[in-house]
Amino acid sequence: MQNLKDPSLFRQQAYIGGEWCDALDGARFAVTNPATGELLGHAPRMGKTETERAVAAANQAFAAWRAQPAKARAAVLRRWYELMLANADDLARIMTLEQGKPLAEARGEVAYAASFIEWFAEEAKRVYGDTIPAPTADKRLLVTKEPIGVTAAITPWNFPAAMITRKAAPALAAGCPMVVKPAEQTPFSALALAVLAERAGLPKGLLSVVTGDAAAIGGVLTASPVVKKLSFTGSTEIGRLLMRQSADTIKKLSLELGGNAPFIVFDDADLDAAVEGVLASKFRNTGQTCVCANRIYVQAGVYERFADKLVGAVSRLTVGNGLDAASTQGPLIDEAALAKVEDHIADAREKGATVLLGGARHALGGTFFAPTVLAGVTQAMKVAREETFGPLAPLFRFDTEEEAIGYANDTEFGLAAYFFSRDIGRVWRVAEALEYGMVGVNTGLISNEMSPFGGVKQSGLGREGSKYGLDEYLEIKYLCMAL
Ligand code: ADP
Repeated sequence: MQNLKDPSLFRQQAYIGGEWCDALDGARFAVTNPATGELLGHAPRMGKTETERAVAAANQAFAAWRAQPAKARAAVLRRWYELMLANADDLARIMTLEQGKPLAEARGEVAYAASFIEWFAEEAKRVYGDTIPAPTADKRLLVTKEPIGVTAAITPWNFPAAMITRKAAPALAAGCPMVVKPAEQTPFSALALAVLAERAGLPKGLLSVVTGDAAAIGGVLTASPVVKKLSFTGSTEIGRLLMRQSADTIKKLSLELGGNAPFIVFDDADLDAAVEGVLASKFRNTGQTCVCANRIYVQAGVYERFADKLVGAVSRLTVGNGLDAASTQGPLIDEAALAKVEDHIADAREKGATVLLGGARHALGGTFFAPTVLAGVTQAMKVAREETFGPLAPLFRFDTEEEAIGYANDTEFGLAAYFFSRDIGRVWRVAEALEYGMVGVNTGLISNEMSPFGGVKQSGLGREGSKYGLDEYLEIKYLCMAL
């Protein structure tokens, strides 16, 4: 991999039980740069046996790690956090090369990813219990919290570092080992994090990164009675599958699945701020985040003015290789992603929408797509039902507040929603009426380590980040003592 300050961060081996290793049969898979198609390297194609080894190593490491005071675990995590910041340029570069996002966004993600490690290292020291007033004079009632045991994570390609640390940091902080299966598109970011965890002094077996056959690895992680908890971020379809596979072992699950975020602009909104909000929420990571605005509802009185302003702002985005400092929009991850954006545009046009900007592949070729704004979009179109996961901003028109809320909630998903209004009464009414786990009010940027990230309805189970994120890796134990 070119131009890393520390080339040893680029590893083409998996990390199991504290050892760097190849697949048992030597199989590998290729990883390419989505901006250029160039080969970046290979990662081991591992399966059942290697995953079983990782789970066994985690199980072995558990007892000593849980026995450490939280302060001691926090010190190791703190070193890992500091190493991430010290190596941020290289981590960002690896990420841009394998994922495509602009370097500035990749740097932002490295800082965001590291922030979870800092946060949970601190939170681990505050895992308090309770005492409960007893019903009789001869009893004393207490509640303690214990690490759940060996845990597993299966993560996606759109945030190759943050989706790992958001899971591994609370697990390790709580006292739990974790086996991570990163996305096949972005294994090198995951392996670089493992290099730094090893350097930070994390004892062997507590963090393994197993690359390869998703179904085989996922099969072991879900079927194993040793693995007590699985945290998954990815598609709703695979989330359902993993939930089914976890039924036999009654595994505790955190699922962060698809979204279909509405973004509502009311007549009384600050339109310039709303345009900024759309840019941040719709076009970040070239539209490839699960909290990206998917449907933009604009009230009739400001529809044309808002559309004009948005087209002006979107036309100033710069599409290009993420390594070029000028680029604000990288390529899409693959051809299938491109085909989905094209399909949503074709479907919308067929049913009467008009293209205000873009609408086609970008002149750069490959998987670059022109940032697109569509007007006249309706609930009958595919884009109203499915997550586009690309740089397409569809503008829907509405008249009343009730109508906007009805449209916004008319989906099986419930991850993030956004709206812009300056009317305090409306702000409360709409915030309470939206059936979503997260609501951005007058902002398109909502994610940080101190707030609970997660969805309702079919967008998932559990919360990550925040003081709530640690509970996902803890069990409650109740002690009832007779005197
Ligand atoms: P996306 O469409 O964003 O790639 P996926 O849900 O397919 O979303 O992928 C998210 C993660 O789930 C990736 O790490 C992928 O390898 C993994 N994955 C895909 N299929 C399976 C499966 N059958 N079992 C376990 N993990 C899977």
